[in-house]
Amino acid sequence: MDEIDCAVIGAGVVGLAVARALALAGREVLVLESEGAIGTGTSSRNSEVIHAGIYYPQGSLKATLCVEGRDALYGYAQARGVPHSRCGKLIVATSAEQVGQLDIIRAKAAANGVDDLMLLTAQQALAMEPQLHCVAALHSPSTGIVDSHALMLSLLGDLENAGGMLALKSPIERAECVDGAIVLRAADGTALRCRTVVNAAGLGATALARRFEGMPTSVVPREYFAKGSYFTLAGRAPFGRLIYPVPEPGGLGVHLTLDLGGQAKFGPDVQWVDAADDLVVDPARGERFYDEVRRYWPALPDGALIPGYAGMRPKISGPDAPAADFMISGPAVHGVPGLVHLFGIESPGLTSCLAIGRHVADLLAEA
Ligand SMILES: Cc1cc2nc3c(=O)[nH]c(=O)nc-3n(C[C@H](O)[C@H](O)[C@H](O)COP(=O)(O)OP(=O)(O)OC[C@H]3O[C@@H](n4cnc5c(N)ncnc54)[C@H](O)[C@@H]3O)c2cc1C
Repeated sequence: MDEIDCAVIGAGVVGLAVARALALAGREVLVLESEGAIGTGTSSRNSEVIHAGIYYPQGSLKATLCVEGRDALYGYAQARGVPHSRCGKLIVATSAEQVGQLDIIRAKAAANGVDDLMLLTAQQALAMEPQLHCVAALHSPSTGIVDSHALMLSLLGDLENAGGMLALKSPIERAECVDGAIVLRAADGTALRCRTVVNAAGLGATALARRFEGMPTSVVPREYFAKGSYFTLAGRAPFGRLIYPVPEPGGLGVHLTLDLGGQAKFGPDVQWVDAADDLVVDPARGERFYDEVRRYWPALPDGALIPGYAGMRPKISGPDAPAADFMISGPAVHGVPGLVHLFGIESPGLTSCLAIGRHVADLLAEA
């Protein structure tokens, strides 16, 4: 049977960042990816926003890893020439009742160490973005955007420079935890004996974890899928910054984001679905977008929204429960030495990827 020190399952942005961190710590690392290319999962179906760390409960992994990851990501992108922009964002209150929510968001952000939010009057916001309608806004100067594909290629380059390897078209079906090692079984029957395994299989992480023999399945959370559809804007972007309404349950509301080419898109919305591969955008959902977007951009022309793409949030809490934190489940949780599962790595997983990599490498070094 082939043997390896560390295997990371999944070559999304998080799996690659974890693999990079382990390789830079001197470990022998192999990334196993089921598809024929890196980053074809959630990592290529998101908003590409570098989040400041505003919304998450104080002390949560989402809060701490987002703030750490944001700083690390700006530094990394700058050093490696990964295209990015610290364009900033405005969170807008479009009615008098919402103004109080801006204060709550600002206090939450401050508790997370995000102390650069500025409360703006409607006039101040309008001076920054003349096409905006709002009654007040919060400006977040440390929010930005990044080219997620360039980021993943750069992480892969680091991994390979440190001696790590990537195996594409290598779907892992199940595993056995035996005698201080973990034996991974690929779909074609190949077996690989590993000292360390990190399950970074994104939407497939929970289902795969239930197929780890020798580990209690009671530690694996139930999965839920919340689809987010985007509609792209035909024509020039009306804003130079990202524009977010105050958050809605399950997501951050139908916001406007920009890509590095200056193209604007709206979304993602929140639609709870049964299957992770339900990624077709229903054009009918665009109708609701017009109403929501016109609250902060009244000049949105009829017919300007074109169905774009959809991403799927790997949720571990259901529609009626508060959003769960990232679940980074190591030996202290499930009792298997050398094994870490990453569950519920939804937003801000892209922003946090380098911090998650550091966190997992530390967890394994301690163990
Ligand atoms: C709509 C949406 C918008 C988002 N916007 C943002 C944002 O603006 N900013 C931000 O910070 N975060 C955002 N996120 C979150 C971010 O995209 C994710 O947290 C991140 O991409 C997760 O990366 P990952 O590597 O864990 O998962 P993935 O990218 O899904 O990678 C998992 C990989 O594992 C592979 N795999 C699965 N099963 C197996 C198996 N059995 N064997 C081998 N390989 C397997 C898959 O093929 C895939 O390549 C958003 C998410 C969504 C859904």
